[in-house]
Amino acid sequence: MDVAEKILALVSPARLGDEVVPGARLVATSTELGPRLTFDCGGVEVHIEVAPADASRPSAARSGRLMFGYRAGSSDDAVRPEVGLALSRAVARLAMANEDAVLEEMAQAARADAQRSGGASRVREVTVSHLLESAGAGVRKYSTLSPYVGCLIGCRFCYAQSRVGITRAFEGLPVVPWGSYVDVRVNAPEILARELAEPSRPLRPIKFCPIVSDPYQAVERKYQITRQCLEVIRDAKEPPPTLILTRSSLLARDAGLLASIPRSWGGVSLPTVDETVLRHFEPRGSSAAERLELLRALRRAGARTLAVVQPMLPGSTSALADALASTVDSVSLDVLHGLEGASDDFRAPEYARAASPAWQMDQALALKAALEERGVAVWRGELPPDLS
Ligand code: SF4
Repeated sequence: MDVAEKILALVSPARLGDEVVPGARLVATSTELGPRLTFDCGGVEVHIEVAPADASRPSAARSGRLMFGYRAGSSDDAVRPEVGLALSRAVARLAMANEDAVLEEMAQAARADAQRSGGASRVREVTVSHLLESAGAGVRKYSTLSPYVGCLIGCRFCYAQSRVGITRAFEGLPVVPWGSYVDVRVNAPEILARELAEPSRPLRPIKFCPIVSDPYQAVERKYQITRQCLEVIRDAKEPPPTLILTRSSLLARDAGLLASIPRSWGGVSLPTVDETVLRHFEPRGSSAAERLELLRALRRAGARTLAVVQPMLPGSTSALADALASTVDSVSLDVLHGLEGASDDFRAPEYARAASPAWQMDQALALKAALEERGVAVWRGELPPDLS
């Protein structure tokens, strides 16, 4: 079942390209960061987010069984409230007529899926009708690519868990802990080849999925969806610049393949070099030593390297700066944004101070200074400044 198609069925008879309210054209549907419809409002993208109705949560509009909210497609843009409200209400009106049938179809598909897998499997094979998702704004527009949705690495603070959880609830799937399920997009390479060959598609950088899953989590060993997608990019007529970010040393297997794509970057997320802290917060990620070895392997293969340090976790900033100075070309720094599933962890005495915004900021500034002292470029955002 392709959930993005079900979201479209929800607003039938509206279709992609239709003006749903004056000046707002429906341009895309997506499920990766929760179910949503994207509208082009005179050059500004507006997402209308869909979730099962929950009386305890605010919303811009509601139908019988669902609720709707709005947000700008890019942090550089703002949505005028009257536009967001008008769109949310229009989508809710359309959904009212379709939601019973659509939700029942999805619940039936979820039951059939559970029956097929004996009710126990948390690894689902799914197919998609589109793959590349537009992200960023202006000249910094890029595409995200997610061979998987959901993640078996299971970082305690992962920001994806609430968003992916909404999509699962929308599908009528049971609530299970973050880190225990993943959807494998088995036809991703085929869809990617088709999308890259579209003559109208602009050549934009591709970033492999650090938001909703990790491209090198354990299932990649068996399915090799990420590897096959890299092969598709390498073989494209004009391969787009490509960036992979991971917490798994399995990327070393494909270091040569990644480096064979012009303008490619390989990177790791590494919030600390304290192995005990890392194991606690990122239970099934590779160790810090393995991630650093991966960076060396990427360099040897000829790829440019980067690290993302986010959130700040306890550990020596000078040791982290030393380790990164010898392995990466640049580092992106950011602080903790919300506790997600880690609120209990950050209440523990050894981690409580790390939850405070002041500690996060102090640690980030100390690491920034330490990196700059060692000649490492520091940036903030989704793409390194020199990826284009
Ligand atoms: S590796 Fe990334 S997607 Fe997976 S749990 Fe950790 S933060 Fe989330």
